[in-house]
Amino acid sequence: MARKNPNIVITGTPGVGKTTHAEQLARSLGFKHVSINQIVKDEGFHEGKDEELGSWIVDEDKLLDYLEATSLSDTGGYILDWHACDLFPERWIDLVIVLRCDSTILYDRLTARGYKDKKLEENMDSEIMQVLLDEARESYREEIVVELRSESAEDVEGNVERVEGWVKAWRKDNGAEGDEEKKDA
Ligand code: ADP
Repeated sequence: MARKNPNIVITGTPGVGKTTHAEQLARSLGFKHVSINQIVKDEGFHEGKDEELGSWIVDEDKLLDYLEATSLSDTGGYILDWHACDLFPERWIDLVIVLRCDSTILYDRLTARGYKDKKLEENMDSEIMQVLLDEARESYREEIVVELRSESAEDVEGNVERVEGWVKAWRKDNGAEGDEEKKDA
């Protein structure tokens, strides 16, 4: 069955603003915000924590089986929020947003979160070396990957508006809007 709504991945280094964007977009679009970190933790889809980095060692098979059983691949309208993106099957995903942030701003956000030592260093390096952007470009078609800046509240506002416009166009292109008009004609 053709999806009625697109599925969107929001990715980027921790601290770039994924949760902030995903929550606002889910609210304004009426989409479901899926925080992959939360699911991994709540459902126990992991094999413990990497002690040094403090991140979960994810059981990807269990996570994907769980997502497959939702209406994500059926009706769509999901926002997947995670600091990785290469594991989601291409057929599920219509747009990949990679959020980016200046390194001094990111440094302040991460230290405010209590990140230090190796965890802080690895995340800073990841942003500077655009690891997530490269991962997105390697994993998905070029035309569905967009890089957006997330440094100020105005950026968030502008990004949300842009994605709303994109979703509208997607619905039109995919025949998910205007069916009623066609029937009436
Ligand atoms: P992530 O989910 O990527 O780890 P969050 O959305 O939790 O990031 O944001 C981390 C912190 O940075 C939060 O305190 C959030 O309010 C702030 N933040 C994120 N994006 C922006 C932005 N564009 N402008 C101002 N503050 C931001």
